Amino acid sequence: MNITRVEFTSIHVHGTHQWVFVEVTDDDGNTGLAELAGPEAATGIAQLTAGYAERLRLSPPDGEADVTAVLGLSAADLEADRPRATAVSALRTAIADAQARRAGISLTEFLGGRATGSVQLYGNMNRSMLPDDGGPRDRSPEAFAAAAREAIRRGYEVVKCAPFDEAQSPFEEPGLPEAARGGIDRIAAVREAIGPDVPLFVDCHSRFDLDSGIALEISLRESNVAWYEEAVDGLKDPETMKKIREHATMDVAGAESGYGVALFHRLIEDGVMDVVMPDIKFCGGAGEAVAIGRALEPIAAGSVSMHSPSGPASQLASAHATAAFQGARPLEHAWGEVDWRPSVLEPAERIESGRIYIPEGPGLGANLDGSTVEARGRRWTL
Ligand SMILES: [Mg+2]
Repeated sequence: MNITRVEFTSIHVHGTHQWVFVEVTDDDGNTGLAELAGPEAATGIAQLTAGYAERLRLSPPDGEADVTAVLGLSAADLEADRPRATAVSALRTAIADAQARRAGISLTEFLGGRATGSVQLYGNMNRSMLPDDGGPRDRSPEAFAAAAREAIRRGYEVVKCAPFDEAQSPFEEPGLPEAARGGIDRIAAVREAIGPDVPLFVDCHSRFDLDSGIALEISLRESNVAWYEEAVDGLKDPETMKKIREHATMDVAGAESGYGVALFHRLIEDGVMDVVMPDIKFCGGAGEAVAIGRALEPIAAGSVSMHSPSGPASQLASAHATAAFQGARPLEHAWGEVDWRPSVLEPAERIESGRIYIPEGPGLGANLDGSTVEARGRRWTL
């Protein structure tokens, strides 16, 4: 893979949120696309990515899987350094896309899978309820119920929410903290809105601790919650998460910012969680996500569900990866951010009836849409 050009693009979404893309072009003119994440995506991380790309230009890797070796980065280095893991993940995904285009095959096939038409999604309503350019949105139980009904109307068969705005450990009282009551009421309203049978996932954004996390799990059983995500940060505190899981009757999920197959393998082998959530933007990229799925799904079916509150390029690459490792769980989709989102890609992103459709054609099957970038974005090189 001889890199001849690296280009960055940012598109303002709303508030302070933007999608940042990197494109890597090879000496045959094949361009691969990936996303950079985090508040420093357009500044420090883009700089780091450009620096790594320059080193890869001088010492070309055979392919995306050799990127870390050429850069002299170990899995331990990258587990401990999220900015570096983010830059490496983006480059590996972009190079995999360019390699697939060069080979004339879809990214799913390049990653070792069979080309597929669509992948099932679960509908995360969180992004539809964050403050937008118009200011904060209503986060009452009624507003959560309305968003949940909208998720069902859009065709999602699995729904996720993140309702614990008011809670943050440490808490003064033992057991279930008073600050969790608002979130429990929102969950009850969502359950009422979606009916008894739709699987409901709850993300707690690491707001709890051992005692409150165990007490909360017991109260979530009343709303028949199927997935208990990040009561605590399972990467920083795997022992506490493991203890919560030992008390839990529902699946415990987490590790959305983790890097590398070794880490995710350890989390499942050690019984820290039931479901790990590698994110293509941090975990090492599309190739590493597939390696994680391939390593873990045979040990524990349904133990890998990719984290993807992402822009449309990462969403599509994550769909290819999920198809390649034949994920037994649906892929995340944070719907409802901005209505012009599909126009970021050409062909336009197609998400219907709770599925993402993978366009035909080599690589991702889609590119950044030039007119949308011109109207809403900024392009630069470093
Ligand atoms: Mg989460």
